[in-house]
Amino acid sequence: MTAQPHDQNAATEQRERLGTAVVVGGSLSGLMTGLALSRAGIDVTMLERVGSFPRSGASIGGVSESLLERITGRPRSRKDSTAQRRPPSDVQTWTAIHARLRAAVNDDPHIRLRYSATVQRVGQDAESAWVTTSDGRRFRGDVVIGADGHRSVVRRTVAPDHQDAQFAGYVIWLGLADESVIASRHRWPRDVDILGSGDDYLLGYPLAARDGSIAPGSRQIGWAWYDARRNDLLREKGCVTGDVVQHSLAAADIPESTLRELAAEATDLWPPLWRDVILDCIERRAVIGTPIAEYVPDRLVQGRLALVGDAAHVPTPMTGSGFNASLHDAEAVAEAVAAGLHGSSVVRALHGYERERLESARSMVRSGQQFSRSFAGQTV
Ligand SMILES: Cc1cc2nc3c(=O)[nH]c(=O)nc-3n(C[C@H](O)[C@H](O)[C@H](O)COP(=O)(O)OP(=O)(O)OC[C@H]3O[C@@H](n4cnc5c(N)ncnc54)[C@H](O)[C@@H]3O)c2cc1C
Repeated sequence: MTAQPHDQNAATEQRERLGTAVVVGGSLSGLMTGLALSRAGIDVTMLERVGSFPRSGASIGGVSESLLERITGRPRSRKDSTAQRRPPSDVQTWTAIHARLRAAVNDDPHIRLRYSATVQRVGQDAESAWVTTSDGRRFRGDVVIGADGHRSVVRRTVAPDHQDAQFAGYVIWLGLADESVIASRHRWPRDVDILGSGDDYLLGYPLAARDGSIAPGSRQIGWAWYDARRNDLLREKGCVTGDVVQHSLAAADIPESTLRELAAEATDLWPPLWRDVILDCIERRAVIGTPIAEYVPDRLVQGRLALVGDAAHVPTPMTGSGFNASLHDAEAVAEAVAAGLHGSSVVRALHGYERERLESARSMVRSGQQFSRSFAGQTV
């Protein structure tokens, strides 16, 4: 039987509490790491710099459902009570995964999630590790885990000689549309479509509805368009400076002329289904441009500090593996911290985490760099 949230909480309640952790970042990796640490008997303070999460147009493919179910204690939501249909694909929206993790964290009495808390500095001594936020507060724990993404502040202390992820030389345009846009004119796609045309790639994917339903009528459809021709625009808008990705290009900041060019190119490059979905997103200005970064790690820990998720390693989304790697990080780091707090040395145990995860993280990013190099013509 699948563990229900309250069952998982009961198990977490009964477990002897071993110590404390501060997790920096409350997005997917932070939430997963918080849950894994709590289940292992560690009390968690999680600090997230934003006040709340906006709807993200991104979707995640290749999700390991069994691992995600284990970490959240709850199955994927399927409100389709009329038929046992299989999900539209293994792609799920970022928003759906985030909501599921967030609900599990909300139900966990051993995790304190604080929003609007921007970590600026990280420190440690022989007894503990701590962070300081921009408003001067200090949070201390047995360990600090950096789950703060591709521009990680914690990484600056863990790997001072190799702090920044590098721009991979291209942007991914992302959009999500409702089934109603395509229903009357096209057949609903059965699975992920991967298309190449000239210099560009397009991934198109059917998705469940916002409420998790997979019944026809209210589902969603998403696309990701790989484009290496607009790097000047990214630099002009400050999304990339030097070799470093600073931020995504929000819909409101995409020039009208670029939207018109994308609409014309979509009409030339992509088959009717995907053309219509993209044109709908452009018309609604529901498009975001994400410049892609890559980071091959040399290390994942420094004393009582450790990195997980995109703070630890950043592969191109073309690998479809960043999320699952983050899930594995969450489980492995929690096991290591628990073992260290049970035993004599949390520092030694964190080195075990690095030994377990470093090589696979490096080869995951490198395999993606081969794609990036050929796609964007970069020398890495
Ligand atoms: C366009 C795109 C498509 C992708 N598609 C796939 C896919 O198909 N399959 C797959 O497996 N993976 C995919 N990925 C990768 C996947 O989304 C990530 O690996 C995964 O979401 C883990 O991200 P994260 O939580 O580590 O980092 P992030 O999502 O970057 O979260 C970091 C969090 O830390 C917070 N933060 C940052 N600095 C601070 C600070 N100083 N103080 C406090 N908080 C801070 C941020 O606000 C943010 O909430 C994709 C990524 C992108 C960009």
